[in-house]
Amino acid sequence: MPAFLPYALVLFAAAAVQLLLAAMALRRRDTSGARAFVGLTLAAAVYLVGYGLELASSDLHRILFWNRMQYFGIVFLPALWAIYSVQVVGGRVPRKGILLLMGLSTISLVVALTDPLHGLVHVEPRLRPDTPFPVLDFDKGPAFWFLILYANMVLLFATVRLVAALRRVPSPWRARYAVLALGSIIPWAGLLLYLEGSLPWGLDMTALSIAASTPVFAWAMFRLGMLDLVPVARDRVFEGMRDAVLVVDYLGRVLDYNPAARGVFPALSGRILGLPVGETGLPRVLAERMTAPEDGEVDIEVPGAAGSRVFRGNVSSVDAPGGSHAVRILTLVDVTSMASAMGELRTQAYTDLLTGTLSRRRFQEVLEIEISRSRRHGHALAVLMMDLDHFKRVNDTFGHEVGDRVLKAVATSCEDVLRGSDALGRIGGEEFAVLLPETGSVGARVAAERLRQRIAAQRVTAPDGRVVQVTVSIGIAAGDPGDPSSLAALLEVADLGLYRAKEHGRNQVEMISDLGLVPRAAGS
Ligand code: GH3
Ligand code: MG
Ligand code: MG
Repeated sequence: MPAFLPYALVLFAAAAVQLLLAAMALRRRDTSGARAFVGLTLAAAVYLVGYGLELASSDLHRILFWNRMQYFGIVFLPALWAIYSVQVVGGRVPRKGILLLMGLSTISLVVALTDPLHGLVHVEPRLRPDTPFPVLDFDKGPAFWFLILYANMVLLFATVRLVAALRRVPSPWRARYAVLALGSIIPWAGLLLYLEGSLPWGLDMTALSIAASTPVFAWAMFRLGMLDLVPVARDRVFEGMRDAVLVVDYLGRVLDYNPAARGVFPALSGRILGLPVGETGLPRVLAERMTAPEDGEVDIEVPGAAGSRVFRGNVSSVDAPGGSHAVRILTLVDVTSMASAMGELRTQAYTDLLTGTLSRRRFQEVLEIEISRSRRHGHALAVLMMDLDHFKRVNDTFGHEVGDRVLKAVATSCEDVLRGSDALGRIGGEEFAVLLPETGSVGARVAAERLRQRIAAQRVTAPDGRVVQVTVSIGIAAGDPGDPSSLAALLEVADLGLYRAKEHGRNQVEMISDLGLVPRAAGS
């Protein structure tokens, strides 16, 4: 068996695998980095086959021929690797950069191919005397060193890029990038060994180390889905999305965040990766939400130069592949406009549009709150139920619009009379209710009487100059301290008083006590 055969066979086998990888990558050529990868594997295959044939050649002339053929692959490897290593982590190589790299590679190729004319690459090529099969030996010319320098600078760039990317990627993706970084370093090590010259028979370790890293890449592509769209899409989506995203590990340490998150929280900068989320300067509610045992939502208001913004934060756990600990992902969606719309809706639901008093619903809510409060503190509480007298006649005589103006005037009159802590609600067409906190039956009667008189004294002028006057009937329910009156009971009692006031001739105040009818107030 010829002595060169084991080496040549390894190289040919590696070249075959490279071609297979090229075919696979070609099928996914729309994936970022796939085209560069196709070029890379083809260039590697050319290099490997060329070197195999060089080793298999028996005379200097053939050896030099196959040596030069290898440059069709060699010169493009660093450039394609650099392009691939940028693209595969989701980056973009500008067209100019690609043209520059390819241009430099082509110049290198021309220099190498024209070596017989100038001899600047291989000075005094000859065969080594000490090898079991013919091996090329030569002094390294200036062009050779130029080619080495260029290749190393490009490789250095690619390696730095990959190692930087490795530090930023979350652990599920780290294996893929680690393989790439390794692939970046192995041929380099081979090159250094070759230049150092301590290898047996001056064999080209770069080619052999490319051959050695070939199965690693094959494994990475088949097992890790290196060219799957996922990591690339992930980067693009993550970086480009408008919603802020923050990722922490199972211990609550920051793994990653996107530019949108930094836009919301300027405290997020490179230094915080790996810090516990509570120590990053993020709002406490968010940090607590992210480290709480269960997933959930949190709303947060973030003050800013252009007014504060409201975000709906959603924390969800995602199981990392391979059984590693779950990561937790916070997404923040800007709901400022939604929140303000909801606030507006709430205001609308809380206030009566015509009179600006509380709506029926809100009045009942406030009443409910006040009843439980007064019970807790043993305070008195009174409710007045008011209904305008013969209001149908106002509408019939002056028209609905004038009726509306009267209703507004009544609300204003009531607000003039009432205290700030009292609550006024319009609970029907021309029915109002008043809540008087910390007011007993005596105070309630005084307030009701003032309201009655004030409304009776009120004058509204219709467009035709006629003056409109209305009166009101009022029922009082006074829950004195210790009185366990419920909302329903209070309203019922007030309604009953109102009914009595109407029955007794209107424009009067009536109070029903627990025991029965309290003597009717004078003043009608
Ligand atoms: P009384 O209460 O003294 O027995 O007589 P009333 O005429 O006020 O009778 P009732 O309470 O049954 O009728 C209420 C009237 O109030 C009916 C309707 O014409 C009028 N009304 C109700 N809501 C509005 C409103 O929003 N605007 C106007 N202009 N009128 C309303
Ligand atoms: Mg009525
Ligand atoms: Mg009425």
